[in-house]
Parts: sequence; structure tokens; C-alpha cells
Amino acid sequence: MLNSVVVVGKLSIRKNDQVQVIAGREKGKVGKVLSVDHVKGRVVVEKTNMMKKHVKPNQKNPQGGVIEKEIPLHYSNVLLYCTKCSKGVRHGSKMTEKAAKGKKGAEKKATKVRVCKKCDSSLEATA
Ligand SMILES: [Zn+2]
Repeated sequence: MLNSVVVVGKLSIRKNDQVQVIAGREKGKVGKVLSVDHVKGRVVVEKTNMMKKHVKPNQKNPQGGVIEKEIPLHYSNVLLYCTKCSKGVRHGSKMTEKAAKGKKGAEKKATKVRVCKKCDSSLEATA
């Protein structure tokens, strides 16, 4: 079938987010998101869903051996990790008013932040 690619749209999970895997063989693992594929709806989580690949010796790798690589997970299998709740949580979003840096000083800019539905704390990566 042509045009069968489903665009998920803007995923609510972003690079550098802390997530917990909630399904599959890596269930319960917590890791950092290394990359997000918005088209396929997949995320790569650091040190999660590793696949061992045997490599024959070649010019780049004269010894050959085993390479470990993360396999992307479907985004529905991960949840944003809340450090306060110590687990993966559902999240909502909230608008916060943040004073924008400007010469006029008083200007305020509304920012959307993702918050934990349980404890209401921000889930935005602070890095
Ligand atoms: Zn929480």
C-alpha cells in the first residue's frame, strides 16, 4: 500500500527525557532518551533493548566481535519518568508564566511544561 506511513505528530517524549519502559522484555528499566523518531513513533532509550550483533573482522574493526546497539522502542511502551514518584507516570501539561528576559522587564511569556499527573511536579529535563 502506498502512503501507509502514519505520522504520529509531535510526540510528548523528547530527546534527553528520562523514561521508564512499561512493556516488553525491558519492562521497568529507566533510561535517557537518545533519539526520537517522530515519523515512526519510536524512541531510543540509552542502554535499553540492546541487541548484540556479531561482526566479522573488517577494515574498520580488524578484531571483529560483538557490538551492542539499542533498538528503538515504540513510544507507547515508555512513560516519562518522575523522580518524585520514582516511576514512569502519565503526564499532563501546564502553562506557566515565565518572565521573559527583555529590556522592558515586565514582559511575561507563557511556557508549556509537562507535569506529572500524580504529584504535579515538572517533568522537563533540567539539563
Ligand atoms: Zn510524580
